[in-house]
Parts: sequence; structure tokens; C-alpha cells
Amino acid sequence: MNRPESAAGPLGLFGGTFDPIHYGHLRLAETAREALRLDRVRFIPAGQPPHRAAPGASGADRLAMARLATADNPQFEVDPAEVDAAQASFTILTLERLRAALGPQRPLVLLLGVDAFLGLPGWRRWGELFDFAHLAVANRPGYSLDAAQMAPELAALVTARRAGPDALRQSPHGALVQFDMTPLAISATDIRHRQAGGHSLRYLLPAPVVDYISRHQLYR
Ligand code: ATP
Repeated sequence: MNRPESAAGPLGLFGGTFDPIHYGHLRLAETAREALRLDRVRFIPAGQPPHRAAPGASGADRLAMARLATADNPQFEVDPAEVDAAQASFTILTLERLRAALGPQRPLVLLLGVDAFLGLPGWRRWGELFDFAHLAVANRPGYSLDAAQMAPELAALVTARRAGPDALRQSPHGALVQFDMTPLAISATDIRHRQAGGHSLRYLLPAPVVDYISRHQLYR
């Protein structure tokens, strides 16, 4: 039976360049789903990322790889909207779109690694993100969520918004939650370098994605 949208549990939203998607991403999403009791996780590959150099693979290829990587998990889905959009991807615009589509009651939880969270003050309209979603931050090897190492405005936000996982079901947006995942020091940058150097990618990302990279001669 379909539940009304307002009764639905939290929806995880996981944006990234996914150039390519790897087990660090997939494990973050799976851990968040379980630890935060999310209904589903929606992967949203960025079209033209505003904060970084052009991706090594096209939007179409990054989308195809995200679909291959998530195909065997019924609670994962892939949203092509940012890749399909003509203009640059800004998370706040995606959140506005999803909030309008899903209604005011559905808890939305934006998933981030610590490195992405630390870069938040550079994001467009970043102070408004909490008007649309909760944020959930996972640890990542090499980065710390220590307030002493954060921009002061970010440290203030952590103090003001930090909450436990139950907060994600008590309101549709506004809380900041941390969760622990098994640390995986995998990065897309390292994968691209390995591929360019002719080294093996096996066991860093799902086999169908490794095959896709090889068949389409990506990152050479
Ligand atoms: P690149 O090396 O190209 O910068 P990346 O591996 O960091 O890529 P992104 O697509 O930029 O991947 O990251 C998307 C999101 O996934 C970000 O929130 C990032 O913090 C998180 N993330 C990526 N890899 C990991 C990992 N190994 N552990 C925890 N979080 C990760």
C-alpha cells in the first residue's frame, strides 16, 4: 500500500561528481541508509560542478556508471536531473526542486563526507541548505570534523544544529547529524590516476563500473 508522502521516512540525497563512483560512495550511502534509517538514498551526479575543474568523464558516462553501481540495491536510485540540466549544478537549486516535488513534510537528508562538509562555506546560498534538508556527515580518512580546524561560521553552525539521528524523523529539515562509516581511503582522483597509469582498478569500485571504464576508454 502506498503511504502518503507526509508519512514517508527520510529520503537520503547524495550528490557528487562521481567521476567515477566507487566503494567509498556506495559504503557511505549504505551506512547512512542503515544507521539513519533512511527509506531510500537518491544519488545525484553533478552536471557541471561549480566548485572544481571539469570532470574527466562526461555527465552521460558518470550517470551510466552510477546506474551500473547501484542497480543491485533496491533502496538506491539515481537522479539524472543535474546532468540533464543545461546550467551549472548548485545543491540549493536541487533541494528547492526536490522540496517542491516531494512536499513540505518529507524529511530530506543531504549526505556528505567531511571533506565536502568543510567546503560548505564556498557553496552558493549555503546558509539556506538547512531550510530545505537535514545534513548528515560521514567521516573520511584524512579529514577531521574538529571545530578548531573549521571556518568559524561552520563551527558555529555545528554547535547550533548538531543533533542525534532521531532528529531526522522529528522535522523535515534543519538538523546536523554525524555518522560513522568503516573508513575507506578510496578517492575518484586516485582511481583516475591509476587508470591513466595503466594500473588495476579492481576492488576499488564495482566490477561493472570497471568494465564500463575499460570499454569506453575513460580516464586514459
Ligand atoms: P575526487 O577525488 O574526484 O574529488 P571523490 O572521491 O572525493 O572525488 P566526490 O564525487 O567528489 O568523490 O564525492 C562525493 C561525496 O562523497 C562527497 O560528499 C565526499 O565527501 C564523499 N566521499 C567520497 N569518497 C569518500 C570516502 N572514501 N569516504 C567518505 N566519503 C567519501
